Amino acid sequence: MINKKIGFTSSLPVEVIYAAGHTPIDLNNIFVEGASAEYIRKAELRGFPRTICAWIKGNFAAALSANLDEVIGISQGDCSNGISLTAMLAEEGLPIYHFSFPQERTYPALDNEIKKLEEHFEVSRNEVMKVKKRLDEIRAKLITLDEWTWQEGLITGKENHYWLVNSSDFRGNPDRFEEELSAFMEEASQRNPSIPAHRCAYLGVPPIYRDLYDRIEDLGGRVIFNEVQRQFAMPYLSSDLVEQYLVYTYPYGVFARLKDILYQLNLRKIDMVISYTQSFCHLQIDNIILKKHIKLPFLNLEGDSPEELDSRTLLQLESFFEVYG
Ligand code: SF4
Repeated sequence: MINKKIGFTSSLPVEVIYAAGHTPIDLNNIFVEGASAEYIRKAELRGFPRTICAWIKGNFAAALSANLDEVIGISQGDCSNGISLTAMLAEEGLPIYHFSFPQERTYPALDNEIKKLEEHFEVSRNEVMKVKKRLDEIRAKLITLDEWTWQEGLITGKENHYWLVNSSDFRGNPDRFEEELSAFMEEASQRNPSIPAHRCAYLGVPPIYRDLYDRIEDLGGRVIFNEVQRQFAMPYLSSDLVEQYLVYTYPYGVFARLKDILYQLNLRKIDMVISYTQSFCHLQIDNIILKKHIKLPFLNLEGDSPEELDSRTLLQLESFFEVYG
């Protein structure tokens, strides 16, 4: 069996790709961990406008640099810019497959989409379920790591972000991911609990700022709820594959997200909410609805390029803690 490198732009049923013996690669992680500014520059040289979200430009250049065999774009349930991104990648000669999270959010519709994905990769549901069982063992550990973050004070917001965000593709190697996760958790279990003065929630797509979590800790806060990153880790451990991707909130719009957010804010006794939006992103509109329904101190931060917090944004963060901290 030939192991192919399959890039993708947003979380999807990676079980199918692993079951086919291939390696899934979340392009967002390659972009943000790599030469991010250079990736953006390369995309702009190819004609991407300045007024397009940096993640789209970064994913474009990351896909071209990652030696991929194929890219899966999400044609429903993610960003509309993603469709144009995959068109540009097709122009570069990369084979493209489109997966969608049907917006009616019904079991038969999603089941059908997953079946088409399985047919594309020539794997059976049984083979996919075997992989799901294996990945669920790792997801169970991530749930524990998340509990250690908000219940035990053993894990920082940045560490929580790192492990949860990387569960979108398990960094292309679930066994190694689990080994590293277990070693990290062993070390973390020996720590003295550190209880933050301010229990913060982080909402929205992962931050493009490199030092946001550190600056929040400097101000006495700690992110103990990373909303979208936690969703990537499929935290409900549904035994059914389709069900797992039905309860996953991110593709189904702001009200699906809001229900999960309100429940978790209450459960985790959150004091302050930091909602991140990316420049030129449609989720800025969803943020209006989040702000309206969340009755807690609420700060919206907007980021553009992969860099440290600029002085204006840092000032906004400091003022927020000064007023509500
Ligand atoms: S941040 Fe917004 S615009 Fe950018 S890729 Fe994500 S959903 Fe699309």
